[in-house]
Amino acid sequence: MAGAGRHSPLSPLSPLHVPTVSTPLRGALHRCGVSPASPGAGADVLVVGAGFGGLGAALSLAERGAKVVLCEALRYPGGCASTFERGGYRFEAGATLFSGLAPEQLFGRWIARHRLDVAVDWIDPLVELRTPSLRLPIGRDREALVSALAGLPGAPAAGVRAFFAYQARIADTLWALFDDPALLPPLGAGALVRHAAGVPRYAALLPVLGRPLEGVLARFGVAGFAPLRHYLDGLCQITVQCGVAEAEAPFAMAAMDYYFRGTGHVRGGIGALAWALVRAVERLGGEVRMATRVRSLEPGPEGFRAGTRSGEIRARHVIANLLPQDLRALLGAAPGALPRLDRLAGDVEGGWGAAMLYLVARAPEGASPAAHHLELVQDPGAPFIEGNHLFVSVSGAADEGRAPPGHRTITVSTHVPLAKLRALPPGRQGEYIGAIQARMREGLAALAPEWSANVVHALTASPRTFARFTGRAGGAVGGVPRRAGLGHYLSVWPRPVQDGLWMVGDSVFPGQSALASAIGGARTAESVARRLGRAGGG
Ligand SMILES: Cc1cc2nc3c(=O)[nH]c(=O)nc-3n(C[C@H](O)[C@H](O)[C@H](O)COP(=O)(O)OP(=O)(O)OC[C@H]3O[C@@H](n4cnc5c(N)ncnc54)[C@H](O)[C@@H]3O)c2cc1C
Repeated sequence: MAGAGRHSPLSPLSPLHVPTVSTPLRGALHRCGVSPASPGAGADVLVVGAGFGGLGAALSLAERGAKVVLCEALRYPGGCASTFERGGYRFEAGATLFSGLAPEQLFGRWIARHRLDVAVDWIDPLVELRTPSLRLPIGRDREALVSALAGLPGAPAAGVRAFFAYQARIADTLWALFDDPALLPPLGAGALVRHAAGVPRYAALLPVLGRPLEGVLARFGVAGFAPLRHYLDGLCQITVQCGVAEAEAPFAMAAMDYYFRGTGHVRGGIGALAWALVRAVERLGGEVRMATRVRSLEPGPEGFRAGTRSGEIRARHVIANLLPQDLRALLGAAPGALPRLDRLAGDVEGGWGAAMLYLVARAPEGASPAAHHLELVQDPGAPFIEGNHLFVSVSGAADEGRAPPGHRTITVSTHVPLAKLRALPPGRQGEYIGAIQARMREGLAALAPEWSANVVHALTASPRTFARFTGRAGGAVGGVPRRAGLGHYLSVWPRPVQDGLWMVGDSVFPGQSALASAIGGARTAESVARRLGRAGGG
């Protein structure tokens, strides 16, 4: 899930004017064609949840001058991509490595436009893959990685190079869509013209649509080249949430560019970016209520009524940064009443939870001061889950406040198959998670002994912990696995679950990472702003 899937909504091409922070709200409203709600009339939009999907939606709406209220159940924003404090240490809760930070990408643009107090460390290498027989640093330079793989003993060098050249073409086509979501549905006339010009490029996608990545590897004669296979199995598992044999090729081939496109370390932890986005929403006139759980949601004649402990919030539209099953519960809807939510909930349940170790370690002699990430695989022949595959993220010396001088905090995660966990009797579930966490410790000791030997403090977490803190039913994280099939392309445009009710987050397109969730939030906001504009007669 680290680095899961990864993309711009308010591109400079957006037809809607984006006010600077100093632009008065009312002027912005006028230019955006959104009519301000009169005092006491409720909000234009209630956003439930300040994960990156909710933050992206709230900021984009606030930029357009809509009257936004953002409610977050926890005392801090970011959800699965947050930085939490325990015992004087600050840990990354789940996500640790982020794309979209380059100046032309979504987070990069927001950082510049809103003068966010966020520093990005362009760490290199980004990750080191370690197996019992391989050490492979993965940096920001595609060519360096290709050369390293092609230069390994026994490598089918020409096939490796040809495969990466093909993958680069596919990734260029798909990332262009993510970097400018005006090109994603719903399409305006300008987008259609630009798409028409791109037809030859899209044609290259046809042979891989609905196919697993493994088939593409086989076409280039590299499916049996173990180091490449291990690298890709790990990358696919953390991005598209399944291995090479299952992964829908276009999604996987786009995700393969993750490391080469604006990926970096947010200094101090991803919470710094989440908090900076909260402040930007507030500066634009949005209202952010932390520690405010929305407990019920009821449609009414003029929008929705949301129940919280501190009273009712009325809004014309609601954007739920929730899993489909959690939204269903909030609405009090029985299974069957909202078939689209039921289908999506089933997809999420076929996915993953996470087992975690949160560690504090003394920095070993000679340790790099930079934040860094290790991907550890104990047995490359076994599935990359349940403690066999670990994503390990070590804070940097410059990450002030995360650990005392000379120490680092470390977040370690592995995938837990939720169907298997659910099938166990409740009494056995803790044992199963405990065994996974023990395997995680073994993996660390075997493949990252420099850190494992210096651990001074440890916490653990499980799907239950995620359910408790992020409110995600069953602790399901990482979104819908992109297993090969054409169904993924049927739901790529934002559309309401019911009139005025929208979903964002990693269970809806493009999903699966902090960046993808934020892009989804911003795209949804654009659709909602259009409706508000119409409703306001603007
Ligand atoms: C272990 C792990 C590692 C990962 N690694 C990476 C990585 O390295 N890079 C990357 O980009 N992505 C990574 N991901 C994926 C990424 O974290 C998620 O895809 C993304 O953060 C999900 O965002 P979201 O918008 O779906 O919201 P969530 O993160 O689910 O946040 C939803 C928010 O809503 C709040 N909430 C819930 N119910 C209510 C309610 N009723 N009222 C008010 N608030 C409510 C929650 O408290 C939460 O803050 C990882 C995920 C995990 C679990």
